[in-house]
Amino acid sequence: MKKSDRILALQKAAEAMTSGDFTVTIPCGDDEIGRLGQSLKKLSSHLQKQSDKTQSLYKILVESNFNLRLIDVLNHIYESFQDHLPYDRVSLVLLEADKSKLKLHWVRANYHILELNTGFSIPVADSHAQKLLETHDMLIVDDLSQYLDQHSDSSLVQSAFKEGIHSCLICPLIATGKPIGFILFSCRKKNIYKKLHKDLSLQIASHLALIIEKTQLYKGVKLNKQLIAQNKSLERRVSHDALTGLYNRPAIFDILHKQILRAKRGGLTVGLIMIDIDHFKAINDTYGHLTGDAVLCEIAERLRKSARSHEYLGRYGGEEFLVIVCPYDQEGAVKAAERFREAVACKEIHTNKRLVPATISLGVAVSTGEDTLDEHLLLQKADEALYQAKHNGRNRVELADMSVKKTE
Ligand code: GH3
Ligand code: MG
Ligand code: MG
Repeated sequence: MKKSDRILALQKAAEAMTSGDFTVTIPCGDDEIGRLGQSLKKLSSHLQKQSDKTQSLYKILVESNFNLRLIDVLNHIYESFQDHLPYDRVSLVLLEADKSKLKLHWVRANYHILELNTGFSIPVADSHAQKLLETHDMLIVDDLSQYLDQHSDSSLVQSAFKEGIHSCLICPLIATGKPIGFILFSCRKKNIYKKLHKDLSLQIASHLALIIEKTQLYKGVKLNKQLIAQNKSLERRVSHDALTGLYNRPAIFDILHKQILRAKRGGLTVGLIMIDIDHFKAINDTYGHLTGDAVLCEIAERLRKSARSHEYLGRYGGEEFLVIVCPYDQEGAVKAAERFREAVACKEIHTNKRLVPATISLGVAVSTGEDTLDEHLLLQKADEALYQAKHNGRNRVELADMSVKKTE
């Protein structure tokens, strides 16, 4: 690539990052510009992590306003923070109404045999947690075997140790100034929790305490049907695109992230189809922006109707869509893409008493193993295949060659 093109690419990537898009390819190399690219890439990955973290915290806040199901919030916490906070197990312990006991209300772990399960309770008076409840302090246990030496009488510590836990981060939940319980992050490795984990768990705990307080406040209050419907519509607004009704960009990215984690656990593949409307600018220019909007909506509707129930469809950008197909092999993903292409191209779009011919181009990328199960790589490869589909004449599907490594 020419020097001026590489500088332009760096500039484009930096601009995209400012608008929250971390998918733009950043050229790297061994010379000065290349090294600048490497630094920008590091910055991009750091910013993306921060942005993911903020989004997850924001989602908890949204759920606290619109969704009073504590279990959903807890599952969301478990699934969202693994990249930012290490844990093999997350537990919610709450003070009983008479404040005499602490009870394990919810637990989720990445292993099956739990010594400490829901329902387990201990009297506050005999527990080491009493001091934490009084001081509202957080506790980090770096090495549970040492801690066990000092508290050998505690059945709670013994059971946790039996489970293979070696580090714990115990964060009190404070609602309107009073302790209501704890959220515990536990890990099989020693010395795992650091200052940055403390800060994040404090933020999670403060959101969670709010939700628990709310849940308890609303306990026994029957929400009427209208309220439930309103909540649903608000929830929908958070995750769906207003114009097309499809998943919006953060929501489809969230699904992609989760499908990749699921595929990694289950040894599955993930396919990504990137779709772009052909010559859409010309449609706008010829028929006007309103007709353009109607065409965009009709295309979204045709895609939605053609998607199978396990194929996730979202609006990626202006006139671009993403479909996540999992677990498909390359042949299956290309077949699905052909189905979408055909659904749009099969007949002209009837809108505002006009017949508008419209087609789409599609780029398909399917992971071929653990090393290609990476959202950025899949997006990059699908984008490259889409570019190829445009180059080869549009209204067509192209499959990405996954054997070529991600450009550094
Ligand atoms: P290509 O086949 O190469 O994709 O050509 P194109 O004209 O579709 O691509 P280009 O990127 O030049 O133009 C995309 C246009 O889509 C430009 C933008 O104004 C329009 N667009 C993006 N979002 C919307 C929208 O929500 N409504 C309407 N009406 N137009 C939109
Ligand atoms: Mg486009
Ligand atoms: Mg286009």
